Amino acid sequence: MKMHSLNLDGSTGEGGGQILRTGLALAMVTGRPLQITRIRAGRPKPGLMRQHLACVQAAVAVCGGEAEGAELGSQTLQFTPGAMRAGDYRFQIATAGSCLLVLQTVLPALMLADGPSKVELSGGTHNPMAPPFDFLERAFAPLVRRLGVGLDLQLQRRGFFPAGGGELVAHITPSAQSLAPVDVLERGPLMNGWAEALVPGLARNIATRELEALGQRMGWTFEAGQLRQPATRQNEGPGNALIATLEYAHITEVFCQLGERSLSAEQVAKRLVDEVRDYQRSSGALGPHLADQWMLPLALAVWRSGQAASYTCTEVTQHTATNAQTIALGLPVKVQITPAEGAMRVEIKPMP
Ligand code: AMP
Repeated sequence: MKMHSLNLDGSTGEGGGQILRTGLALAMVTGRPLQITRIRAGRPKPGLMRQHLACVQAAVAVCGGEAEGAELGSQTLQFTPGAMRAGDYRFQIATAGSCLLVLQTVLPALMLADGPSKVELSGGTHNPMAPPFDFLERAFAPLVRRLGVGLDLQLQRRGFFPAGGGELVAHITPSAQSLAPVDVLERGPLMNGWAEALVPGLARNIATRELEALGQRMGWTFEAGQLRQPATRQNEGPGNALIATLEYAHITEVFCQLGERSLSAEQVAKRLVDEVRDYQRSSGALGPHLADQWMLPLALAVWRSGQAASYTCTEVTQHTATNAQTIALGLPVKVQITPAEGAMRVEIKPMP
């Protein structure tokens, strides 16, 4: 039976790479062909860049599909998926594109495939405007596991923009039963809060200054083990990431600021504290990034199980609003976003 295609306008809403990645994932899991126009029209360099091409190629590999228009700078893509195949995959992303964004493109398909998969990725693990490895490992993956999916991530080497060279391995085991949707409405009490500064290939005192500035504002200390300088490998840099992890009873959130040449260590720390404070001011369980990224795995669970599920989040970013629209076009679900007390609530319901 020929399925009608999923037609997406890549300039909608936030108009970035996420519409493409979500579109590819939706096409893979439903078997519907994807037609996407005006790709990344909202970005300064529109069209497919290397890291988006890597997502398209990964999608083609995982479901034996075909892609037309998969060229650098292309603003239209026609993707015809085949059947999803579990297996061992290796994806190399040139120019330090984000490994994590490629992984998130194929994860929905591999979590519904017919057996376990291993995905090895090389490229960037700590990129601007992308989830860092630590966020996927500590914030995103535990939520995915609550759906019944096995998701184990191992970082082998960090890769920073622009040098890249990072490596990670993901093991994905589909749920034995149907995916089980979960509600994530409250954080629960804070169990632990801590920060780490990564400075491979750079002076160690950058890390110390970042941690001291952050510690002063957050009330965290080296003595209590709340300020950490993890060991890094010699060939990982140069790069700088300052990462805060907040472990609540029902959710872990991870915030990250990357150092830049034009920013002092103290400014990096201040930016991170501002981000953490914004999160703490709200009562939403998920922070702004987790809120957009959690929507697709949860929508798949709602679709497959026929049961509704909700989560609360601190704010609705353009990424979250756009992802809600894209998902509702690709799956038989309804995504409703409403204000909740001191937060926002996202509810995903199966369509009758
Ligand atoms: P796009 O800009 O459309 O390519 O999408 C970028 C994706 O990266 C979105 O899902 C963002 O939520 C995510 N992202 C960007 N920065 C961070 C961060 N610091 N932590 C976690 N996720 C991030």
